[in-house]
Amino acid sequence: MDEQRARIQEDLRGLIAGDVRCDDTFVQLYASDASIFQARPLGVVRPRTKDDVVVCVQYAAEHRLPLHARGAGSGLAGQAIGSGLVVDFSRYLRRIVRIDAETVRVQPGVVLEALNTELRSRRRMFGPDPATLAMTTVGGMIGVDSGGSHGLRYGSVRQHVKSLEIVTADGQRFEMAGEAVDFDHAGQRETNHAAQTHEATQTKRQLVRRVAALLARHAETIAAAQPRTLVNTAGYHLAGVLDDGRIDLAQLLTGSEGTLALITEATLATVPVVDRRGVVMLFFESLEQATHAVQKILPFRPSACDLMDRRHLSLARDADARYERLIPRAAEAMLLVEYAGDDPAEVRDTLRGIVDGVTRRRKLAFDARQAFEAEEVELLWELARHVIPTLYRLKGSARAVPCIEDIAVAPEVLPEFLIQLQNILKRHYVTASLFAHAGQGQLHVRPFLDLAVPADVEKINRLAQDVYHAVREVRGTISGEHGDGYSRTAFLEEQYGPLFPVFREVKRIFDPHNILNPGKIIGDGVGLPTEHIRPAAPGSPGRAGSAERGLEDKAAVSRPLIDLQLNWGRDGLVQAARNCNGCGACRSQAAETRMCPIFHVRPAEEASPRAKANLMRAVVTGELDADAMLGDDFKAVADLCVNCHMCRIECPASVDIPRLMLEAKGAYVATNGLRSTEWLAAHIDRLSRLASLVSPLSNWLIAHRAARWLAEKTLGVAQGRKLPRAAAHPFLRRARRQRLTRRVRRAEPKIAYFVDTYANYHDPELAEALVAVMQHNGVAVYVPSAQQSSGMPLVAAGAIAAARRLAAYNVSLLADAVRQGYHIVASEPSAAMCLTHEYPLLLGDEDDDARLVAEHSSEACGYLWSLHRRGRLKLNFQPLSAALFYHTPCHVKALGSDEPGENLLRLIPALRVHKTESGCSGMAGTFGLMRKNYRTSLRAGRALISCLREPGIQAGTTTCSACKIQMEQGTQKPTVHPLKLLALAYGLMPELARRLSAHSEELVVT
Ligand SMILES: Cc1cc2nc3c(=O)[nH]c(=O)nc-3n(C[C@H](O)[C@H](O)[C@H](O)COP(=O)(O)OP(=O)(O)OC[C@H]3O[C@@H](n4cnc5c(N)ncnc54)[C@H](O)[C@@H]3O)c2cc1C
Ligand code: SF4
Ligand code: SF4
Repeated sequence: MDEQRARIQEDLRGLIAGDVRCDDTFVQLYASDASIFQARPLGVVRPRTKDDVVVCVQYAAEHRLPLHARGAGSGLAGQAIGSGLVVDFSRYLRRIVRIDAETVRVQPGVVLEALNTELRSRRRMFGPDPATLAMTTVGGMIGVDSGGSHGLRYGSVRQHVKSLEIVTADGQRFEMAGEAVDFDHAGQRETNHAAQTHEATQTKRQLVRRVAALLARHAETIAAAQPRTLVNTAGYHLAGVLDDGRIDLAQLLTGSEGTLALITEATLATVPVVDRRGVVMLFFESLEQATHAVQKILPFRPSACDLMDRRHLSLARDADARYERLIPRAAEAMLLVEYAGDDPAEVRDTLRGIVDGVTRRRKLAFDARQAFEAEEVELLWELARHVIPTLYRLKGSARAVPCIEDIAVAPEVLPEFLIQLQNILKRHYVTASLFAHAGQGQLHVRPFLDLAVPADVEKINRLAQDVYHAVREVRGTISGEHGDGYSRTAFLEEQYGPLFPVFREVKRIFDPHNILNPGKIIGDGVGLPTEHIRPAAPGSPGRAGSAERGLEDKAAVSRPLIDLQLNWGRDGLVQAARNCNGCGACRSQAAETRMCPIFHVRPAEEASPRAKANLMRAVVTGELDADAMLGDDFKAVADLCVNCHMCRIECPASVDIPRLMLEAKGAYVATNGLRSTEWLAAHIDRLSRLASLVSPLSNWLIAHRAARWLAEKTLGVAQGRKLPRAAAHPFLRRARRQRLTRRVRRAEPKIAYFVDTYANYHDPELAEALVAVMQHNGVAVYVPSAQQSSGMPLVAAGAIAAARRLAAYNVSLLADAVRQGYHIVASEPSAAMCLTHEYPLLLGDEDDDARLVAEHSSEACGYLWSLHRRGRLKLNFQPLSAALFYHTPCHVKALGSDEPGENLLRLIPALRVHKTESGCSGMAGTFGLMRKNYRTSLRAGRALISCLREPGIQAGTTTCSACKIQMEQGTQKPTVHPLKLLALAYGLMPELARRLSAHSEELVVT
């Protein structure tokens, strides 16, 4: 950290209650957003209170430091980044202040999804719906004036803003809403009388009067320069702000991208939830037919009318079997049309009218699918929301780049404009994807470019110039809903001509010293978009603002980045890091998403998977010194990844964050070693073995508070955590006695059981249940006696060398078994993850044995379910009268298994299996054991525990031992592995039946 940063950090920490961070690693997290740009800030401020915001602005004004407001950083134009101090409103200022009958008062960091969840219980919602609703903040939406697919019905945010509380560039805070203008004093300086009034009131009066005078003076220019479109977020919104003697500066501030003031609270209008919605997918043989159809559909007054091209459709088909069934292969384009109303008959009739008009009468669409049930309607909307980010899953290094992605024209000129656009793209030798809010004439066009290639980067400016010229020719706008930022600021002067100097004047009135988000909207000297491009790979264009850097900096391309700990080569690492497009989907806290469990409970940028990708990309491109990886700041971010793999599964671009973090943690551990408490967590198997050796003592100790207190102080194990008892006779010893460790002399089916720590030392009964169930189904069981634990805790800690040794040992043992016809089965999902995913990663692609083992390994329930699907599972179950809550562990999801544990339980007569998505258990292997993570772990598991506490539920059930520990922590109800329940229902383990009945009176075999 340089001197200036150190001073700012020290000063501001003394002044505000929120966070202030200026270290290299932390500021890198805020150097990018969902755009293709990058600007490294001086520091990051996360205000806790409105007073923090005021003080921060006053400090910045005094020291002439630029300030860049930021919400979720999901903007596509680079408007939330800059070289000054980033003010992150999303961390603490996220409270819904008040909900009234038709309005809501919120802080700017409130996430739209969270707001709507609150409002929905009152049958209200916020109208505009950007696709990023699961993470976008209200402040960011106001900053951009966001819209969405339902723009035809709800317009953009501006239509819903009632008033804004703002902090001005000189640090005054007040409310802005519509008010009458006193023209007699417009444009004049304040009088003595005014000087006596409160300073904030004075500033406000001045602003109102000066802006009113400006708008009145330029009324004609303002009217003449407006694009003829239904949507527009380019430049400042001046039209209609002054109307009939009244002025509404909240309207002007909406969409001003943090360049005029910072918003600290907002009053927004809400709308009633619409009861009846019907959606139709219309399929076309060409894009042209689809755009012509839009003209025929609009008179029906649909609430949404979106268009997707062939590329989006085939991605959707690949991503989800349900879409594969719905979308015909022949479709070149699709319109997704929604009609909403109160009367179901009217909704059905209107949609039928649309389908009839476009298919039979006009012969434009060749096929249609309609949906009226809420669940089906939602499925179709998911398509629109999730498909754009999945463009990043396409193979190759060219990406669908947001650079001219927000143009809009009048809907009636759409067909002709589209032809012109395609011609321009052809002239530049680029192909592009197209998603459009076609009903509003809004086109999200993303050319496929490789930002690591200078020639492709250079195309960005030229493409923008040509496309924007064509847009202006039809009186369109260069930005319909994403705003200007670094992407479009340079083109605003051409878009608005004589109105642009008025924009400059507006900026001067609000922010005379150009402190607020300089370079956005008013960008004198800001340069063309490519000056801010984010480097995609070592030596690629970007950094220091030069598109040519890539050409000059050849040395960077071959320079080793870091000593890689994993065998994936430099290119593998670079590719994984650049796969993240910054979309921010991993900042979601929505109940139906698992990623990221840590972000769910600690919604801070550093906890998001995106943060991890950003840091690794910065290291590989040289933006961040590779030594930073060995520092504590980097480690603190890496430690917020618990290797659950949920982001890898749910990220629309499939970015392998856990692998990136394994590399990062590995680098740290290779140099610094493990800290003592981390060593313990990573070697928990040794502790379990010891506990089992002296089980009477260890079980006595874990039951005693004083001993647990001591364990917390010395070992870092949380005192409050209920620890599992140790078994006096580990399973592997019992297996030897039962001769299970002898190879089986018979043909398949036969399995080799990979036991792992928990079943071996803490729950041998689980291992016995597995053996009993397998044998009952005619599957011979062999337990390799020399096997060691899976080593997943070593992987999670980044102890790569030790994990690799263990992996090599287990793989050589198990590969031998596979070659003899055994299938490897693990009762612990994380052990199955090791066999199928982590071991090949640790040992490298060239390790044939690792691949062999990975290909022939399964989690136990998955194996049994596959038996059932082949008709080979015995179904002679006795009824089990009980109501259980089933929890799916993250690693089962990561294995890609289709809920086999739950499916098996549903085969047992009379057993009632309840399941709702209640997120991660929060235990995350050994993470939740440790004192420093205990509270976070409990918070993450709260939803799950409250499901278990439901009075009708008698017990929990899950396949993961760590989840079981958490589930039993929060309730007195037992959590039983599905294998035990199967054994129970087969009547194989009477002693287990007795024990469980003692636990839960109603859990009985009938
Ligand atoms: C995959 C994808 C799909 C998208 N789809 C849509 C869409 O359908 N419709 C749409 O409109 N947008 C869309 N966007 C763009 C983006 O998600 C929206 O513009 C979003 O509303 C931005 O909100 P945010 O919280 O991320 O704000 P940020 O990006 O963090 O900030 C946006 C702007 O608001 C300003 N700002 C933030 N907080 C404040 C504050 N308190 N005071 C003053 N200014 C502030 C910032 O300075 C910045 O200029 C999409 C983006 C992606 C990645
Ligand atoms: S990790 Fe995935 S979800 Fe998160 S920002 Fe990157 S691409 Fe988006
Ligand atoms: S692996 Fe899990 S904990 Fe790590 S970043 Fe991804 S979702 Fe978060």
